[in-house]
Amino acid sequence: MQLARFPRARFAHLPTPLEPMPRLSEVLGVELWVKRDDCTGLAGGGNKTRKLEFLLGEALEGGADTLVTQGAIQSNHVRQTAAAAARFGMGCSVILEARTGSTAEDYLGSGNVLLDRLLGATIRTVPAGSDMNAALEEDAESVRKRGGKPYIIPGGGSNTVGALGYVDCAWELRAQADQMDLTIDRLVTATGSAGTHAGLVAGFALAGADIPILGIGVRAPKDVQEANVHKLALATAEMLGHGERVSREMTVADCDYVGAGYGLVDDAVIDALKLAARTEGLLLDPVYSGKAMKGLIALAKQGRFKGERVVFLHTGGAQGLFGYHSILEPALL
Ligand SMILES: *Cc1c(COP(=O)(O)O)cnc(C)c1O
Repeated sequence: MQLARFPRARFAHLPTPLEPMPRLSEVLGVELWVKRDDCTGLAGGGNKTRKLEFLLGEALEGGADTLVTQGAIQSNHVRQTAAAAARFGMGCSVILEARTGSTAEDYLGSGNVLLDRLLGATIRTVPAGSDMNAALEEDAESVRKRGGKPYIIPGGGSNTVGALGYVDCAWELRAQADQMDLTIDRLVTATGSAGTHAGLVAGFALAGADIPILGIGVRAPKDVQEANVHKLALATAEMLGHGERVSREMTVADCDYVGAGYGLVDDAVIDALKLAARTEGLLLDPVYSGKAMKGLIALAKQGRFKGERVVFLHTGGAQGLFGYHSILEPALL
């Protein structure tokens, strides 16, 4: 059950802090804490950094010289992958999908995209709905043709290797809570490409920690999201030798807060961004953590967490705020 047998490159700032959110707790009438995975340290940090430690471990062990990955235009995963590549002197080839349909100048050029360029990634953009796996293969093939050795990282770094980063996070959080003599009743996180949620499910299951996890969906409907997360949690636990500890009921997603679609911001998301910023000085992002907070706020107001101590996993993404400047600014006047 040890992670030590998997190759790992060390660059994340760990453990990330676990902090109380007293002012937000008071507003929402629930005891809320935050696990600061926005502070993982790699070029602005975020949840992809933990996954990348294991993915880079495997890439470096295999002698790869170029990372190939994909994401939406304002992908935080792509930014962190570009930074990891730079740190290890590797090339980074990325495909950005125009998934939201936005043609705003800030969305296409600022925020994470500006940082991808600064970090030296080679970028190509494809239309929404493109076959992203085929695109990854094409880019890997052109790296090979140049005599290089590509390492393909799936969208969000969400495979069993990447999910190990969140098995580790689950164990880290549990140790931290023990040390602080804190009982955690529930963990709430954004759930997208599934690696974060799946790693946490597998990690708690393997540790025998009975902490329910609520994933707030940002893209897919509930049945699809839960099936994706469960499948990856199971595969990850199997890789660690204990598939039998992961059951289907451990994976719970609430996908009622996606709004108009992935990466599309509504008033409730903006309210969530403002509330976190103005009560706790916390910067959430418009696509993931802000949408998860939108869900958490609504559920707290419905009394869903009554009497519980809830930990919100801050998965990062504030760099993406600048890609939404033209949408956010009028709402802040
Ligand atoms: C990618 C991302 C998520 C979702 O994590 P998955 O592992 O893809 O489900 C949440 N928050 C932020 C800020 C992200 O960049």
